[in-house]
Amino acid sequence: MPQIDDKLAPIYEQVVRRNAGEPEFHQAVREVLESLGRVVAKRPDYLEDALIERLCEPERQIIFRVPWTDDKGQVQINRGFRVQFSSAMGPYKGGLRFHPSVNVGIIKFLGFEQIFKNALTGLPIGGGKGGSDFDPKGRSDGEVMRFCQSFMTELYRHLGEYTDVPAGDIGVGGREIGYMFGQYKRLTNRYEAGVLTGKGLFYGGSLARTEATGYGNTYFTRAMLQTGGEDFDGKTTVVSGSGNVAIYTIEKVQSYGGKVIACSDSSGYIVDENGLDLDLIKEIKEVRRGRIGEYVRLKGQGYFVKSGEGSIWDVPCQVAMPSATQNELTGKDAAKLVKNGVQAVGEGANMPSTPEAIRTFQQAGVKFGPGKAANAGGVATSALEMQQNASRDRWSFEQTEARLATIMRDIHDSCYETAEEFGAPGDYVIGANIAGFIRVAEPMRAFGVI
Ligand code: GLU
Repeated sequence: MPQIDDKLAPIYEQVVRRNAGEPEFHQAVREVLESLGRVVAKRPDYLEDALIERLCEPERQIIFRVPWTDDKGQVQINRGFRVQFSSAMGPYKGGLRFHPSVNVGIIKFLGFEQIFKNALTGLPIGGGKGGSDFDPKGRSDGEVMRFCQSFMTELYRHLGEYTDVPAGDIGVGGREIGYMFGQYKRLTNRYEAGVLTGKGLFYGGSLARTEATGYGNTYFTRAMLQTGGEDFDGKTTVVSGSGNVAIYTIEKVQSYGGKVIACSDSSGYIVDENGLDLDLIKEIKEVRRGRIGEYVRLKGQGYFVKSGEGSIWDVPCQVAMPSATQNELTGKDAAKLVKNGVQAVGEGANMPSTPEAIRTFQQAGVKFGPGKAANAGGVATSALEMQQNASRDRWSFEQTEARLATIMRDIHDSCYETAEEFGAPGDYVIGANIAGFIRVAEPMRAFGVI
């Protein structure tokens, strides 16, 4: 296992001690601290004024009760969270996740990752994350609306276009953002378009925001392939998940001639060796809100493997794009992928590969793009949405997508060059962590001890 530098080890120990029972948060911090030894060796001044300790402690953590009434008239109680992690670069920015697995440790890991991701975009956004243990699965539109309204009734006082700007994540898409924006507008009596991103196109949303995370990961992964003179053309690709990130990853990979043969949801995975029919997947997931196994019945080809009876990473491929959730790709999965000849891995989800998996890929020379760099296209385009809202303007799809493509190329190049500069050529994990850290550390130093 990569080691944490002696000077940084006490910081990690303190994070573990003060945040008991939050393993995902420890994992995210550990991965960054493992990279920072190389920085403090060159720049010991970053150890001054407990700068790194401060970066590991959220500026503010909000936990609140969310009561709402279901369709049967029963009162339900969920827990809401917003972790405002770092405002060194700009207003807190990051999504809201609605999923039964959400707890404070999950939100903290996501918020911590978001700081570096957002810094890598080169745009002025700080890091935050929020959500709830509410499970939207099987809930009616009315139930989702009442939940979102109750959630926003508490959260609105902590938000603002200059303060904190949430967006979507797992379980939060256009429908939920619409309900939350409506309630924010009603409570504040302000049409403050820039307070949320991922909005609908009729009320201040940005073209290309929906596609941005998947497209962005595809640009990033393509840039990694191109460093070895390769491209997606003809490459067999597996994309886990079938939500917003996965769908637009599949779309873009297919446009570059890649053959995407498998995707998944929490019920299992499907394989179609002829290449996935994306229109059918969109119909199943976005219109019917159904299960992925329906693909096989409706298409009359391919096969479905139930979750627990196999891993999507058993499917041989040259490019793997995990786009479901954290720690979905284990060391064992990585060993299988390597054995089957995988060449590149681009993380569409946040922290989908376990530390063992990352190590396995890197030791085998697989090009590995960590989520905080590879999936930054979503939040980058959120920042472009904020720009459009601030200037009361609206850009074309082409203009917005072109900005996204440039941003992803710049993120790739800055990770690549930073890794070289710090003696770890080809290591995008080290490149992303160090490049992101330096961008946040500089304003923190300028601001003094706050
Ligand atoms: N939830 C997304 C992420 O993980 C997007 C956040 C945003 O657009 O603010 O980066």
